[in-house]
Amino acid sequence: MPVYEYRCKTCDTSFEERRSATEASPAVLCPVGHSDVVKLISMFAATGRAEASPMTACGSPVPGSCGGGCACHS
Ligand SMILES: [Zn+2]
Repeated sequence: MPVYEYRCKTCDTSFEERRSATEASPAVLCPVGHSDVVKLISMFAATGRAEASPMTACGSPVPGSCGGGCACHS
């Protein structure tokens, strides 16, 4: 699940939130509860280590267990 970085424009606090990309996004509130929040570009989310791994490209956590012809065998 990607982590996004947000900044509250009201109290100028930066914070991170884990969000599912497939779920509808409810309003993000800062730790204090302000709703005037902007999303920042997160280095962590941009690199996306886990998502970029060929082992998870086919949805199988174990390489080789998904049958031939899958990208995880290369
Ligand atoms: Zn705030």
